[in-house]
Formats: sequence, structure tokens, C-alpha cells
Amino acid sequence: MLDCLNRLLLAAEDLVETSDGALETVQEAAAALGGPERLANVGYLVASVLFILGIKGMTHPRTAVRGNMLGALGMLIAVVVTLIKSGAPQWVWISGMLAGTAGGLFLALKVQMTQMPQLVALFNGFGGIASVLVAGAEVLRLAATPEDEGTAGLFAGLTGLIGAVTFTGSLVAAGKLQELKQFKKPWSFGGQQLANAVMVGIGVLLCISMADGTAWEFFPIVLLSLVLGVLLTSPIGGADMPVVIALLNSYSGLAAAAAGFVINNNVLIIAGSLVGASGLILTSIMCKAMNRSLANVLFAKLEPAADGPSADEVYAGKIKATSPEELAMLLDGVQRVIIIPGYGLAVAQAQHTVRELANLLESRGVTVEYAIHPVAGRMPGHMNVLLAEADVPYDQLKEMDEINPTFSQCDVAIVIGANDVVNPVANTDPTSPIAGMPVLNVGDARTVVVVKRSLSPGFAGIPNPLFAADNCLMMFGDGKKAMVELVAALKEA
Ligand code: NDP
Repeated sequence: MLDCLNRLLLAAEDLVETSDGALETVQEAAAALGGPERLANVGYLVASVLFILGIKGMTHPRTAVRGNMLGALGMLIAVVVTLIKSGAPQWVWISGMLAGTAGGLFLALKVQMTQMPQLVALFNGFGGIASVLVAGAEVLRLAATPEDEGTAGLFAGLTGLIGAVTFTGSLVAAGKLQELKQFKKPWSFGGQQLANAVMVGIGVLLCISMADGTAWEFFPIVLLSLVLGVLLTSPIGGADMPVVIALLNSYSGLAAAAAGFVINNNVLIIAGSLVGASGLILTSIMCKAMNRSLANVLFAKLEPAADGPSADEVYAGKIKATSPEELAMLLDGVQRVIIIPGYGLAVAQAQHTVRELANLLESRGVTVEYAIHPVAGRMPGHMNVLLAEADVPYDQLKEMDEINPTFSQCDVAIVIGANDVVNPVANTDPTSPIAGMPVLNVGDARTVVVVKRSLSPGFAGIPNPLFAADNCLMMFGDGKKAMVELVAALKEA
């Protein structure tokens, strides 16, 4: 960490020493293009193309890293040409970029993989508040210099409304994902839906009234929306968080696009629209995976968690524990094994040991596949990222729809740190909080082995009757430790 910061400081010194030369070159390029305004537009076009290529790269794990780099390069170009266009003093933008880089570097090194969803929530929130500040500054500038051309108008109102909702909504979502006790429990009051609807109505009316050029409405819109963000997100329970994060991501893009119209900035409009649209597509995919309609999520009409059976009622006298040695014997002579990873795999950081187990089984002629549920873990694609880190061949990862009909031809299904995504009550109990959520039918396998530390529930907080099924064995322990012991037992057997 310190080494990285040192390198950053050295790079900064170099940048300051050489920036005069670099700046001269850029200024010459700007002059050749007909001024900084033109240079900015060319830069924005290049940045926009890089954003689109970056998103395209994200569609496959093999090209995802390159896609990420292209997106980052696009953002760097957009930031630099904007700063040149603004004519801000050199020291202002160099120190701003260094502060941003240091912050980003710190987060990248410090935040654990399991905390990524919270970080994404915070990034959404920062995006929302940044748009509010941009629009607010423009509103104040126009108020101070009424002779200037331009009108903050409807788009400033929309930026305030969407950006402020995104900010506080994302803070609450991050708090829930971090399992802070103030946010963990869904919170609501009688008539909250009505209060939300009235607040949205007032916000929209204030936005419309800004269309005639008045500006004072911006500040009440922002205050109202800050409260609305909290009210919209607080009643939503943990199991729906993936949809909320995707939706807030989309909101942050829409706020940025609206801010782009306020200050007439093309790249903000394009990048904001890309984020807004991709966030909405992701929301729709997540809605399907969680079995919630988009309208249901938008208006947070959530069913209260029903009082289902207690853990004692589900588990008492029916749990069969197993050991790594027993499982090693069970795996002797099997033909097909399916590994089902969940959030606990990420917590235990067991992905490399799981890969070792798979290699060992494959060297004995066993077919090994991984069943990937779209919301396994704590963010979309969590399991894919984790297994890719351990170099698991991508063609062994099977999506839920593809693998579900084949569990009946599987000798042993090994569930590691997954719970809700293999809970059969989603299909059998319409009052359960995960009712209707598509789940992996692991119970169809000849034998199921569940690796987790205890009988504690998963994110949705409900017991799992799979653990008490006749064909299910529980291997209690930390995911990584259990896998290490299993690999050792297999080698010995
Ligand atoms: P769950 O949260 O349902 O279950 C995870 C299980 O992992 C727990 O029961 C826990 O049991 C076990 N575990 C924790 N630490 C370890 C460890 N070190 N070793 C072994 N096991 C461990 O996870 P799933 O992946 O099955 O389901 C995801 C849930 O999260 C769904 O409800 C989903 O809606 C929700 N969600 C998903 C998001 C996404 O985008 N993917 C985002 C937000 C929420 P124990 O304590 O006994 O070990």
C-alpha cells in the first residue's frame, strides 16, 4: 500500500515537472483543431467510443479486463479535455486528479472482494451527488449572472430529483449490505407508499415549474429527494438488494445525463445514458432472477416476511453430518459432480482450493461442473468473478436454466457456502420472502453435500429444508478449511 502511494507521489512529481511540455503539446493540438471547444468535442467522441467498446468487452470474461481498461482510458480522456476546456489553473486540475487517483487506489487496495457490492452502492451514490452539485452550481451561476445565456430549467430539476434520491438511497443500500444494525432491518411506517407517491408528485411538479426558467425550486427538490431516497430504500429487505443496487446504478446514470443537458456537455449525456440504459437492463435481468416485477421494485411494494416455520421445526432430528474422510469415500468412483458456489465461498476465499479439488477429480475421470445462480453471492456475476480468479475454465460454469434439468444425472452435488439460491421453499411456500425466486434444484442429485459453518440462515433469513432432506449430508466448517481437508483426504484415499 505504502509502496503504491510512494509510486503515485513520484508519478505526480514527474507529471508536475513535465506537464508544462505536455500542456503545450495539447494546446498546440487544440489550436490546430480550432480551439479548446473543438478539442473537447473530439475528445468526447473518442471517449464515448471507448466507453461503448469497454462495455462490449465486459460481455465476456476473457475480454473483461481489456474492456475495463478501455472504459478507464475513455474517462481519463474525458476528464482531461474537460479540464483543458474549462481553463482552470493547472495546479487545480493536477491536484484534483491526484486526489481522485489516490482515493481510487486506496479503495481498490483496501476493499475486500466480499465488500464490492457496498462499494458499488457508494459509487452510485457519489455519482448521484456529483450530478446534483454540478446542476446546483449551474443554477447558482445563472442566478448570479442573469445576463448569461442558458437556462438551468427542467433538466436541473430532474438532476436534483434523481441525483439526490440516488445519493441517500445508495447510502441506505450500502448500510444494508454492510449489515450495519441501523439499516439491516427493513423499516417503514403506515401510509409510506402514499407519502412516497405524494413526494414524487411534488418533486415532478417543482421540476415542471422550473421549465419556465425559475431556479429557486431546485433547492426544495433536492431536500425532498434526499428524504425520498431514504424512504424508498428503507422498506426493502436484504433479499431484494441486488435489484435495488442495479436500479440505483441506472438512476445515477440518468442523473448524470440530465446534468449533461444542464451544462450542455455531450460526454456526460452519452456516458449517463449508457449507465442509465445498462443499469435498467441489469435491473430487468435481476428482477427475473429474484422473481420481482420492475413496477414492484420501483414502488417498493414488498410483502412483509411471513412467519414461516422456525429452524427447530425444520431441522430437529433430521440433520446428518459428514466429514471430509467420508465425503472422499463417497466421491470414489462417481462420474459427475456439480459444485454450487455461494456467498460463503467468497467469505472463505475457497475458490483456489475448489479448483484444486476439481482438478483432482478430473484427473480421476470425473466430470466436474459449476452451477451458477444469477444472484449467488452479493452482486451480479459475483461467482463468475471469483471462479475466474482461480482460473476455472469458463465452459465449466453452467447457468441455472442449463444445469437445472440435469441435476438428476448428478452423483454428488457439493454446495459450498450457498443457501438461499438452493432453498426449495422458493417453489413450495408462497408466503416465503423468496417465494417464486428461481432456485437450483440440487435436491434432485443422488447425494447433496452442503459445506457451511452452521445451520445459520442465508441473506433472506429463513431456514432451508434442503439441509434436512434424506439425500443431504452437512459438512460443517469453514469453506476453505473443509476443501483443504477434503483434498488431503482424497489424495490419501
Ligand atoms: P446466502 O447468503 O443465502 O448464504 C450464504 C451462506 O454461506 C450462509 O448460510 C453461511 O452459513 C455460509 N457461509 C458464510 N461464511 C462461510 C464460510 N466462511 N465458509 C462456509 N460457509 C460460509 O448466499 P447465496 O449465495 O446462496 O444467496 C445469495 C443471497 O444474497 C440471496 O438471497 C440473494 O438475493 C442475496 N443477494 C444477492 C446479491 C447479488 O447480486 N448476487 C446482492 C445482495 C443480496 P454459515 O454462517 O452457517 O456458515
